[in-house]
Amino acid sequence: MPINKFLYFGDFFAIPLALALFAGLAFATRGLAAAPAYVTGLLAGVVIWTFAEYWIHRTFYHHAPWLSDLHHRHHETPQAYIGVPSFLSSGIVIVIAYTPFYAVWPVFADGIVSGALIGYAAYMVVHHATHHWTVAPGDWLYPARVRHMAHHYHDDLQFGIVTGFWDRVFGTTGRRRNRLARV
Ligand SMILES: [Zn+2]
Ligand SMILES: [Zn+2]
Repeated sequence: MPINKFLYFGDFFAIPLALALFAGLAFATRGLAAAPAYVTGLLAGVVIWTFAEYWIHRTFYHHAPWLSDLHHRHHETPQAYIGVPSFLSSGIVIVIAYTPFYAVWPVFADGIVSGALIGYAAYMVVHHATHHWTVAPGDWLYPARVRHMAHHYHDDLQFGIVTGFWDRVFGTTGRRRNRLARV
């Protein structure tokens, strides 16, 4: 759905607050002794996010009812503010990343949800930048922009936004197709 700027950009206020909250929860109870589990969880959360981002885009955004309609509108009008209201999507990230681990290892859960939120924020910044910022060859965002523009032309390729790693793992970079086309 087209959404207003408040809902589109709302996460940039909500996510730093949530990060402060989860770091506070981790360190308030156990002090610095919480650091190894929190940092391990945070790094795992970032890695898990990059995979989730790839898989959600490839499956749900391109094939699930309603979400795929929404996403195809983004493909047709890439500069419009279209998406799920940001508080809803960050709320879903928190519930999915936090709840399963909380009962077993709360400090690790604080870390993993923090990592997932950092990954989600990176996804939003990079995706917004590929469509709205001037990104020149040599800029650090240029590879991400090239990958995402390729996805807008070939919507069965290049699903990763923050990283192209999972496209290489699952063979959706398009390089194999290009090689075959040349034979
Ligand atoms: Zn896009
Ligand atoms: Zn897409």
